[in-house]
This record gives sequence, C-alpha cells and structure tokens, in this order.
Amino acid sequence: MTMENKVERSWFDEVMVPCYSPMEMIPVEGKGSRIWDQEGKEYIDFAGGIAVSCLGHCHPVMVNAITEQANKIWHVSNVMTNEPALRLARKLTELTFADKVFFANSGAEANEAAFKLARRVAAERYGEEKSEIIAFKQGFHGRTFFTVTVGGQSAYSDGFGPKPGNVTHLDYNDIEALKAHISDKTCAVVMEPLQGEGGIVSPVPDFAQAVRELCDEHNALLIFDEVQTGNGRTGNLYAYEGLGVTPDILSTAKSLGGGFPIGAMLTTDELASHMQVGTHGSTYGGNPLACAVAEAVLDEISKPETLNGVLEREILFREGLAEINSKYSIFSEIRGEGLLLGAAMNEEWQGRAKDVLAAAGKEGLMVLVAGANVVRFTPSLVIAKDDIKEGLARLDKAIASIV
Ligand SMILES: *Cc1c(COP(=O)(O)O)cnc(C)c1O
Repeated sequence: MTMENKVERSWFDEVMVPCYSPMEMIPVEGKGSRIWDQEGKEYIDFAGGIAVSCLGHCHPVMVNAITEQANKIWHVSNVMTNEPALRLARKLTELTFADKVFFANSGAEANEAAFKLARRVAAERYGEEKSEIIAFKQGFHGRTFFTVTVGGQSAYSDGFGPKPGNVTHLDYNDIEALKAHISDKTCAVVMEPLQGEGGIVSPVPDFAQAVRELCDEHNALLIFDEVQTGNGRTGNLYAYEGLGVTPDILSTAKSLGGGFPIGAMLTTDELASHMQVGTHGSTYGGNPLACAVAEAVLDEISKPETLNGVLEREILFREGLAEINSKYSIFSEIRGEGLLLGAAMNEEWQGRAKDVLAAAGKEGLMVLVAGANVVRFTPSLVIAKDDIKEGLARLDKAIASIV
C-alpha cells in the first residue's frame, strides 16, 4: 500500500458519525488473545471485543466454519430457511430450557423481539391493560428506541422525543421495591442475571428466585437478558443455570457469534405460539453465514472442558488482580463471575477507571471499563494461561505508571 493510501485514525473524525471515541491505534490483525495494530505493536486482549470474542481472534473452528459456508451460500432471506439456522436452533433448544428460537442480528434486536413477544402474550391473554415492563436501574438492553428505554440509564434514552410507554425502573437487588410495585398490570420483568454495562453487579442471593416468584404470582413473564452473561461467560452455558432460575424468554448475542453479528431470542412452545407469520421479522435474521459461525462457536463453548476452563481462568484473574492490588491499593473489590469480572476503584480512585484503561493500552494490554469506577475484563474464554500471566504483568506496569 502506498503512503497516500494509508488509512488513518484521523479519518474517523472526518467521515464517521461521532457516536464513538475510538482509541488512537487501529487493530489490523488478531490471533488468539493477541492483537496487532497498524504499526505492528502487539496487545494482549482482556477486552474480547466487549464479551464477544469468546474463542479469541480467528479461532480455527470459526475460520473453518465461515470459509466453508462462504463457499456454499451466504444469504437467502426468510422467504426460505437454511441448514445452518436449523442446526443452530436445534442445538440451542437442546442445550437450554427453550423450545423455540428467533434469530436476530444483535443483542438489541434479540431484546426487541423479547419485549414485543411479552407485550403480545399479555395483550392476547389478558388484554391491552397488561403492558407494564419492569426493568432495573443501571440495566442495559441495547440501543434501539424500545430497548434503550427499557434500559436503566435515562442518559442513553433522553433527547429523542417521546419514548415507548409503560416502562418502570426499580433498583436492582431490591426485592421489597419489586414486591411493592409489581401488579397484575405488569406484563414482564426484564433483568440481566449479572449487570454488565451497569458496573458488574451480581444479584444478591435469592433475588432472581424472588423475581421469578413475583412474576408467577402476577402472571408476568420473566425475561433474562443474557446478551453479556450467556455463552459460557460465567462458567455456565447460560447464567440462569447457575442461578437455578429459569426465565420464560432469554435473549443472547455477543459471544454467540464469537465476533460475527448474530442474536437470538429463546422461548417456550407456548409463548412462541403467540407469534404468527408476519408478526415479527428480519431480513438478515438467521443468515447462513452467521448461523454457521455461531454453530461452530456453540459446539466449542458448550464443551465441559471449555466451561471448566472459564472457572480456572477466573481464579488466575482473581489471584493476579489481588496481587496487583496488594501492591498499589487502588481497587475496593474484584467482582463478577467467570470471565465477566470487574475491579472496582476504591474511594481514592473514584472516576479513574479510564486512566487504568489508557495506561494499560500504552503497555500493550486491552481492558474495558464499566462506568467510571470499574475496570472490566471480558477476555476470550479460552485465553492461554500464559497470556493471562503476561497481561496481568502488563497491567501491573500500567498501574505502576499512574500511581
Ligand atoms: C451489549 C448488550 C446489549 C446490546 O447488544 P448489541 O449487540 O450491542 O445490540 C444488550 N444487553 C446486554 C446485557 C448487553 O450487554
């Protein structure tokens, strides 16, 4: 490539709608949990593309699946079905509580389908009056107007005119508040089994169980948004298994495609029967390429050795982070589950999670934040143990440079 053709970060500000503020470096290649930028600088990836690259970059099973499918057929629309979609749906129903699957292209779209299904079920069974959706503050469900309105951060949903109505936000983990508010007008309660974007907040013991019971008492559906927690992230294939609480509807995306865009809504036969031909749809949903990759990913992440490996890696992260903290005392706690971990900044370091992220970048380590006070780690579920060690060493150096 000649110099004039070199793609530069500055182009972003010239030609992209300024919704993001990307890092200065541009990644051009990835293998496993290592990434290289345009200058050939190497990074260890503890971010995993925000809980997406569950098998790391360019894992051979994904490369094989997409290459094989790319030489067969790419797209047919939902006027026809296709083999990868049917196989993937079959596997998802075999591996979970669900009997039926609706494919979408993202987490937001999977949630959009979930919320529409819940509203429709309630309207058909009980009438239009039963339409309230209860969600939780700091929750995140995507950026379409309906899903961002259900999400618990008005900063993301304000400023776009009138919002979809009848959405209530309560405090996560406040069973009494839910008990006091839920009624026969409630059509669904939606929760993340562990809040991701909201700062890596686990449910208190019994919270999910209490939500389930209150939903049953009031004929409301329980929707688990497992877009971030699902697909092995917590050490269970889906986090609901670990909680011992089965939702009526589950949304998944992110790691489902391991880096190829796909989302899915999972539900029961009974609920699915409220959707008929034409009720909902998507041009790309269930696309053969996406489903072929997701099938290969699902085969890999549902293996007991992969899921057990998540818990082994969690221990390495927790031990390493504790050791770093014993030197620099900047974290108040390490929280989360599996490889969805957050290091919360202590009193003295409030608001400075992003400083850790920036310093890590300089040392060749990619991490994430979740809000202003939590450094988030969502690496590949199969990240090499040596990469964890080396990444933690880089994090140590990064923190040393800012204390
Ligand atoms: C990322 C995320 C979404 C949105 O997914 P997109 O693919 O960005 O639309 C929804 N819910 C949760 C819990 C998420 O973490």
